[in-house]
Amino acid sequence: MASVLIALGGNVGDVRATFAKAIAHVCGMAQAALIARSADYATPPWGDEEQAPFVNACVEIETDLDPHALLFVLQKVEQKFGRTRNKERRWGPRTLDLDMIAYDDISLQKPDLTLPHPRLFERAFVLVPLAEIAPDRVILGMRVRDGLSSVSTQGIERLPDTG
Ligand code: ATP
Ligand code: CA
Ligand code: CA
Repeated sequence: MASVLIALGGNVGDVRATFAKAIAHVCGMAQAALIARSADYATPPWGDEEQAPFVNACVEIETDLDPHALLFVLQKVEQKFGRTRNKERRWGPRTLDLDMIAYDDISLQKPDLTLPHPRLFERAFVLVPLAEIAPDRVILGMRVRDGLSSVSTQGIERLPDTG
């Protein structure tokens, strides 16, 4: 079984409801166990500031799927929840984004899949939820909690549990 960290994001529709359903779909399709799930966070948009705030979260799953098979599942689930990548601008509004942050300690540079995710340590909106579930995980030589302490978390708010 591989341990995989996945970052979720979205800013169109009922994103928190989408997350709940998307996590269940990923686990079902990947025959994966959900090991940990962070809270949801409201975060300022990144890369393209002319858009609504995002909701972000992170999960850890365990799966037997290889990285590319899991990427295929993540993209299927994005599409199921209304993601239309070919009509979007880069880092623009979207219903659901599922990024693989790390897959065990695998390092991969393929046209369609880079592991670990190369922009992880620039992104407080990933590091805040990730530090909640995997603070001591070392990715690209950096402990997640140390990565978090070197970025600004201004504007990021933990959302109350939905119950
Ligand atoms: P960013 O990667 O900067 O967060 P994005 O999530 O907005 O940008 P997308 O349009 O969702 O980018 O995805 C573009 C491509 O990134 C996907 O088609 C996928 O093949 C590729 N990709 C590369 N590495 C990863 C990864 N670790 N997780 C998910 N997708 C990846
Ligand atoms: Ca992304
Ligand atoms: Ca993505």
